[in-house]
Amino acid sequence: MTIALHGLGVSRGIAIGKVHIIERGQLDIPEYEIEAAQVNAEIARLEQAVAAAKHQLRAIREHIPAATAAEITAFIDTHLLMLDDTALIHEPFRLIRERRYNAEHALQVQRDTLVGIFEEMDDAYLRTRRDDVVHVVSRIQRILLKHTPLKHEELDSRLGGYVVLADDLTPADTVLMQHLGIAAFATEYGGPTSHTAILARSLGIPSIVGLHQARRYVREDDQVIVDGVRGIMLVAPDESSLTYYRARREEDQRYQSELIHLKGVPARTRDGVDIELQANIELPRDFETVLQVGAAGVGLYRTEFLYMNRETAPEEEEHFQTYVQVIKILSGLPLTIRTFDLGADKQVDGGRRAGPVQSNPALGLRAIRLCLKEPALFRPQLRAIFRASALGPVRLLIPMLSNTLEMEQVLGIIDEIRRDLDAAGVKYDPKLPVGAMIEVPAAAVCADIFARRLDFLSIGTNDLIQYTIAIDRVNDEVNYLYDPLHPAVLRLIHNTLEAGRAANKPVAMCGEMAGDKRHARLLLGLGLRSFSVHPANLLEVKKTIMDSDLASLTQLAARALKANSGAEVAAMLEAETGVDS
Ligand code: PEP
Ligand code: MG
Repeated sequence: MTIALHGLGVSRGIAIGKVHIIERGQLDIPEYEIEAAQVNAEIARLEQAVAAAKHQLRAIREHIPAATAAEITAFIDTHLLMLDDTALIHEPFRLIRERRYNAEHALQVQRDTLVGIFEEMDDAYLRTRRDDVVHVVSRIQRILLKHTPLKHEELDSRLGGYVVLADDLTPADTVLMQHLGIAAFATEYGGPTSHTAILARSLGIPSIVGLHQARRYVREDDQVIVDGVRGIMLVAPDESSLTYYRARREEDQRYQSELIHLKGVPARTRDGVDIELQANIELPRDFETVLQVGAAGVGLYRTEFLYMNRETAPEEEEHFQTYVQVIKILSGLPLTIRTFDLGADKQVDGGRRAGPVQSNPALGLRAIRLCLKEPALFRPQLRAIFRASALGPVRLLIPMLSNTLEMEQVLGIIDEIRRDLDAAGVKYDPKLPVGAMIEVPAAAVCADIFARRLDFLSIGTNDLIQYTIAIDRVNDEVNYLYDPLHPAVLRLIHNTLEAGRAANKPVAMCGEMAGDKRHARLLLGLGLRSFSVHPANLLEVKKTIMDSDLASLTQLAARALKANSGAEVAAMLEAETGVDS
């Protein structure tokens, strides 16, 4: 019997494939006393599990693509070393022999002891070694409990063509799975502008979030259809559903291949106004797609992904080499590098590392706040950006500014870096434009102040909507309130565009709203002339721009600004153009 599960489609497309379930939850560790006669058997059981863990790690090591950072290989080597002859492994054997603990519990006791010791240490690097202990122990425990290994952690290429289903996926998980040819992602939690959803879109993989309790109804290897537009997952589909969805998949592919003809055509409205259409990028490999769709440059390079799935932060030289590589690919097209926006849902380790729990992480230490608190992380990136600017057109974009003090602090650091580079005779672009993301309501209201002091602004609607309507963008329980057409959001966007106009400074938009063809027309009407969108959406937005007439859209926008609700604006858009918003 076919079951239909409903969530929120966040990355469009149709996928048909078998399911692989990823369990990221905590392990339940059994705790019992073994019989004296069972001691040797329990010791043998633990020995076998340790041997199997080594085998798994060696297999992972062999399958790591050559291009993967050396840190990942080193990370696996550390785990292999820990499995050999260390206190971590010896003590559990003693606990089995002398106290008759079961193997899983013996490991847990030793894990807790070592974690306690590491956490007492003052040295931050040594403190992070606690994670290695936790990972190694949990690998052995999973083997003892016959838990299906986390295939994605093992970079298992057999996941190609599978639909990955999980309670939730962190951005770090998604990055890790990018090379595996996954057919679709589906998660029980998450919101439409969570970074995992954004990544899925940028990878062009159909995705659904908020599929509540899906793992109760779906089993490993079940066949499913994922409809990333409507947010539906059909489990064990019947023949007629399969026929229908295969046809839709082909239609979609046809539509996409027709759009490619627009690649070299200017993004010009019907009444002859040229619009700047740039691309958003997360991972260096995405830069090729910028060229494939004919983007006019990169309006947002989210550099925080450089920091994920690794043990140490990138140093200045690594930043520099990465940017140089990108500048070369773009060969003359402008590159807007956003300084790292870590924190909230973008934790370096996917949030699994222990630390003080922030009850409102999105309101906490993230983006520029973290940069200013950790200059040792921020300065090398800034220096690298400046050095790279000698080699091509680079712009510097600062995320999440909320007041002028932060802005002045950043400009102060930039001045120091310029002086250092001058003193060392290092070349950079002395006119390198510095801009602010406008994504906090306070900054949108005071956009005139930022526009006067900085060179450009870029509106980040993902956060601007989150903070304006007070809804956590990753919380699926309040998704229904997420409304880009909310009059408050439109007024803040309008205010920012007006501030840019008054100060004669360019204003772009790089939030997901810019890449949604249903909203693009309204944004044109509000005065937006520079869009930065995912390469996957770029040609569709271009088509919308080419079908638009600015004079009528300006009137539409003026009415939208006076509307009482997002629903009213949506109805206006639909009546005006017949497109469902
Ligand atoms: C935004 O907030 O709209 C944005 C572009 O930044 P991010 O999605 O990375 O927070
Ligand atoms: Mg943001």
